[in-house]
Amino acid sequence: MVWDLAVVGAGPAGATAALAAMRANPEAHVLLLDRAEFPRDKACGDGIAVHVADQLHALGAPQVLAGAPPVTGLRLTTPGGITAAGRPRRANHVVPRAEFDARLVAAAVDAGAQLRTAKVRTLTSDGARVVLDDRHSARVVVAADGANSTVRRLLGLPANQGAHLGIAVRGYAPGDPGAVEQRIDMVADGWPAYAWDFPTGTGLRNVGVGVARDRLRGGKTALHQRLLTLYPEVDAASLRAHHLPFSSSRPQPAHGRVLLAGDAASLINPLSGEGIYYAVVSGRLAGEAAIRRPDTAGAAYRRALQAMLGRHFAHTTTLARVIRHRPLVEAAVTVAAKRRAAYDELVEIALGQGLLHVGTLAQVLAAYRPERRWERIRAR
Ligand SMILES: Cc1cc2nc3c(=O)[nH]c(=O)nc-3n(C[C@H](O)[C@H](O)[C@H](O)COP(=O)(O)OP(=O)(O)OC[C@H]3O[C@@H](n4cnc5c(N)ncnc54)[C@H](O)[C@@H]3O)c2cc1C
Repeated sequence: MVWDLAVVGAGPAGATAALAAMRANPEAHVLLLDRAEFPRDKACGDGIAVHVADQLHALGAPQVLAGAPPVTGLRLTTPGGITAAGRPRRANHVVPRAEFDARLVAAAVDAGAQLRTAKVRTLTSDGARVVLDDRHSARVVVAADGANSTVRRLLGLPANQGAHLGIAVRGYAPGDPGAVEQRIDMVADGWPAYAWDFPTGTGLRNVGVGVARDRLRGGKTALHQRLLTLYPEVDAASLRAHHLPFSSSRPQPAHGRVLLAGDAASLINPLSGEGIYYAVVSGRLAGEAAIRRPDTAGAAYRRALQAMLGRHFAHTTTLARVIRHRPLVEAAVTVAAKRRAAYDELVEIALGQGLLHVGTLAQVLAAYRPERRWERIRAR
């Protein structure tokens, strides 16, 4: 048979693509392939922005986050010791990916997608359809196979490099079941680098460290060591690292009848390392384009993605360059610490589709101090 849509990878991007396709046409034949059986673990901070909940609601799948305790606080601290802490306008969630992804896959399957366990290795196309592994024939394929995407490689698209690629390691540690604040501590060593401590609200914390790949010295072992030093209470057996392809360098998201979504399309926010929201949005747009306009799905998907996230990507790409100069980050967090509107703006830029506004930029520049001044603050 020829599937209306075949999706490679059943993480947030792929499962959402399958779910959105079934919502667009409940009669559609949608195949969802993953090399792993669910539930499966995924290296992640497990931070699920409230914007993801909005998408799940819109797709009629609010149950994916049902019962997840709200995480109401967000605290950001710079190496210079400046802290911006508060309650984002809406609460986020922290849900282990083993659980979140399995629930999202279940929602896609409940909606009618066919889930199969298979590792995709080859892809061919005759113009009218795409064939995976000489076995699965589809009118459109969504490649949602993550940061080391096989499909992207088969299309001849290079992987992200240098400053456009991050690497992070996460582990689980015991925590206070009542904790409701996500903490992000920026780290001077290997700048721009950060450590996080996210409570799940169930007595477990997800802790981790992340760094731009081109600033990592000593490889994955050094990264693991950094995490163990920062959080000695972490369960060493739970350590898991993975790459983060940042949206500051994105391939064309559509190639003929193959649409790239999520990490396979390099959609991770280069400022925050957040990728689940962008995976869910791109998966949704790709799934809808595949079902509604199979013969022009590529163009429809490109347009929809650009309309929804194009300006945001442009702003975060510029800011990703700017944050390499640490004093500007110290200044931005100083402004966010003092002004509620700037704090909210920062949260939206980091987690959703936010843009940097001119008024905030002017305030950041006014708060800017040269490097030495921040070094003095840190030394005190
Ligand atoms: C350490 C770390 C911390 C992070 N923290 C956060 C966070 O707190 N919040 C946030 O929003 N984002 C975070 N991210 C980013 C986030 O994890 C990703 O952006 C998100 O997982 C992308 O979803 P995806 O569906 O595109 O890819 P994935 O979640 O990677 O899913 C890809 C799927 O494809 C399958 N697959 C791969 N190859 C094949 C193949 N050949 N055939 C079949 N199946 C295949 C895999 O088994 C997997 O299930 C973090 C990333 C890292 C590495």
